[in-house]
This record gives sequence, C-alpha cells and structure tokens, in this order.
Amino acid sequence: LTRLKAKLAKSANPFGKALFAILTKDHLTEADWEDVEDTLLLADVGAEAAEQLVDELRSDARVTGEKDPAAVREMLRGKLLDLVGRDTDRRLNVNKPGAAKPSVIMMVGVNGTGKTTTAGKLARLFVADGKSVVLGAADTFRAAAADQLETWGARVDVPVVRSDKDGADPASVAFDAAARAKEADADVLIIDTAGRLQNKANLMDELGKIRRVTEKNLPVDEVLLVLDATTGQNGMAQAKVFAEAIGITGIVLSKLDGSARGGIVISVQKELGVPVKLVGLGEGPDDLAPFDPEGFVDGILA
Ligand code: GDP
Repeated sequence: LTRLKAKLAKSANPFGKALFAILTKDHLTEADWEDVEDTLLLADVGAEAAEQLVDELRSDARVTGEKDPAAVREMLRGKLLDLVGRDTDRRLNVNKPGAAKPSVIMMVGVNGTGKTTTAGKLARLFVADGKSVVLGAADTFRAAAADQLETWGARVDVPVVRSDKDGADPASVAFDAAARAKEADADVLIIDTAGRLQNKANLMDELGKIRRVTEKNLPVDEVLLVLDATTGQNGMAQAKVFAEAIGITGIVLSKLDGSARGGIVISVQKELGVPVKLVGLGEGPDDLAPFDPEGFVDGILA
C-alpha cells in the first residue's frame, strides 16, 4: 500500500493518477466504468470520445471475458492510440525532394498562445538538423513582437527580417522575408503573424494577403496553428476561427508542460481535422518536440 501511495504521489498527472487507481483494482464494477469515463472527461478527451471509449472497452472486455484490470488498461492504451492516430503522418512538409526552396512555414494563432516562442524554437530544431533558416516578423501589430522574434533570432543564430516602423504592412514584411530567404538560398523560412482576432473577415483578409504576397516568391508549405493546451475548449473556439480563415496544415500544442490535460490532443485533431505535429514543453529554445503518440498515451496513463 505504501508503494502504491508513493507511485500515486509521483504521478504528476491527475488523469493518470485516477486511472491508475481504478485500473489496479481486482475487478471492475459498474461504478468503476463510470469513474473511467469521468476521468477521461476530466482529461479533456471530449464527451463523445470518452463515452465511445468506455462503451467499446466495456463491450470488448465482456466479449473476451477479460477481467484483469492490467489487461483492460492495455486495451485502453490501444484505443487511445487509435484515437490519437498512431500512424498519422506528422512530419513537416519541409524540403521535400523537388519542392521549391526555401520551404515556407506560416505560424498563426491567437496572441499569447506561444506563436513567436514556437517560431524561435522551431528555427532551433531546423538549425540543429543542419538547415539554414530565416525568420520573418510579420506580426507588425504588436510593437514588441518583432523585438521578441529578434531576440529569438539572436538566441538560435538565425537572421530575422522585420520592418523598422510599427504598424507596417505585414504582407510587405512577408514579401521581403521571402525574397531575402530565397536570395540567401535558405532551407526554411518561418513567418510569424499577428494574432489579434477582430473578426473572421478581417483575419482572412490579413492572413490571406500575407500568404498571397509571400507566394509571389515562394509557395507556403505549412500553416501551423499554435494552440495553448492550457486553455482547453475556450482556445478551441478561437482556433477554429483561424482554421476557417486560412486553412491550416498542422497544429502545435503549446504549454503541454504546465497544468494542461493532454486529452485535448484528441478533441483538437477531431475538431480541426489536421494532426498535432509538434508540442511545446517549456519556454526554452529546446522545448519543442515532434508529437509522439506512443509517448503521449503512455504519459497520460502513467
Ligand atoms: P504569441 O503572442 O502567440 O507570439 O505568444 P508568445 O510566443 O509571446 O508566448 C506567450 C507566453 O507563453 C510567453 O511567456 C512564452 O514564454 C510562453 N510559452 C510559449 N510556449 C510555451 C510552452 O510550450 N510552455 C510554457 N510553459 N510556456 C510557453
């Protein structure tokens, strides 16, 4: 019992903790199944997915006559992996053979979600991979945004193209950045954009213009939506507006290191119809990682 308690106390994740408590019982009762569902709900898995998971799990357990909680846990692991998408292609569409060079990535999302930070961390990932990178500061609305990106550029040793004046046309900065990246024969251009959300039409106008103008030089290969994992369903509504305004190719789930309940990965992929490709795990330059479904599911069950 002491060992069990110690293990529970060590688990940072209340989701994993509760599941661990339920699924280490000798046998599962009606109330236990409800607890499993509640726990999945609390983990942000989403109502529909939680109900479906538990229904499937129960009927599978009935069919196979499986009563051993450890085996049920293994079944849950498999189902979570299926839901998260174990074989989904999450690679960034960057430097594919035959594609135009540099590859262009646009970062979009609501202010404060971690766009600028993620642009910096992403640049670092590419640099570590031996690629040359240019950052474009097309968030000209927030005066400090270009400064912040410049700080990141210095930190990860990547040039930053910005405008000298506040409130400059973001599309013209993107145009300059694309021209410069092309001239420098860089591998990747990452464009940071403004995240103010007045209305969808306005957002479509601005992001659409940045994209069109960039594409005078180079095709945009990835549009990554940065979503703050700690905002749960609230963040999702805003994320949807961005997804509808520009059309995204991948999600970066930031701030998964904090109090975020990981289950949001499942609902966000379902809602937005694109995979989570990267996760933010802190504020430092090395705190961005490709999303790993196996590690993720093991993490929430731990
Ligand atoms: P932007 O307005 O979307 O460009 O957001 P910023 O990049 O300025 O980030 C907002 C805040 O979130 C900053 O304080 C970042 O350091 C912090 N942040 C960004 N990503 C992460 C992350 O993965 N984990 C944590 N803990 N903080 C993050």
